[in-house]
Amino acid sequence: SWRDGLGEYIKNPKANSKQIISYSDEFTLVRDAYPKATIHLLLLPHKNSNLHPFEALSDIKFLESVKSEALKVKELATGDLLRKFGSTRSWNEEIRVGTHAIPSMSHLHIHIISKDMHSESLKNKKHYNSFNTPFFIPLDDFPLEKDDERRKPTEMGYLNKDFVCWRCGKNYGKRFVELKRHLEEEFNKWRNGD
Ligand code: 5GP
Ligand code: ZN
Repeated sequence: SWRDGLGEYIKNPKANSKQIISYSDEFTLVRDAYPKATIHLLLLPHKNSNLHPFEALSDIKFLESVKSEALKVKELATGDLLRKFGSTRSWNEEIRVGTHAIPSMSHLHIHIISKDMHSESLKNKKHYNSFNTPFFIPLDDFPLEKDDERRKPTEMGYLNKDFVCWRCGKNYGKRFVELKRHLEEEFNKWRNGD
């Protein structure tokens, strides 16, 4: 099924060289095919690939190796933003690393994504809220506590929350078109360091 699409990058990296940035015995790094922000990469650990992130990232030794690799990817992404926009700000702080509480793709993957949410591929409520509510879980928050409410993302209704601008905190209700227009304005300020 389409949910298994990321598995190809692990099984057969050489045949998928267009999206792949790098691969080793332990990890494959790819560009997200439908990027939701200026920088959007997926880090695919080969180990624990068939596990849900809650389970996979409860293995502490494995978690440490993923965190350390993700840190390197963040450096890479920082460099990309610096080349793209110049030294208008400290780009390292403009990149987030984490997983979705309910991934849609079945192979374990970590998102490395810039904060801007400026993208033609950002087309619906889920695309925005899955990265801008507690549905997005920073890698640094793992391992999750047993009673962490993010373990029950559907009950918490994260994806149905109002749109809140990632930058200024303004609430756009359920008005996606207005949100998109505002994200465009915020993007232009953000990239220039305003
Ligand atoms: P999830 O919601 O599972 O955490 O995110 C899956 C991500 O994979 C999404 O951001 C989506 O755009 C991306 N994606 C879906 N199919 C493909 C694909 O075939 N190749 C790549 N590189 N990314 C994909
Ligand atoms: Zn704003």
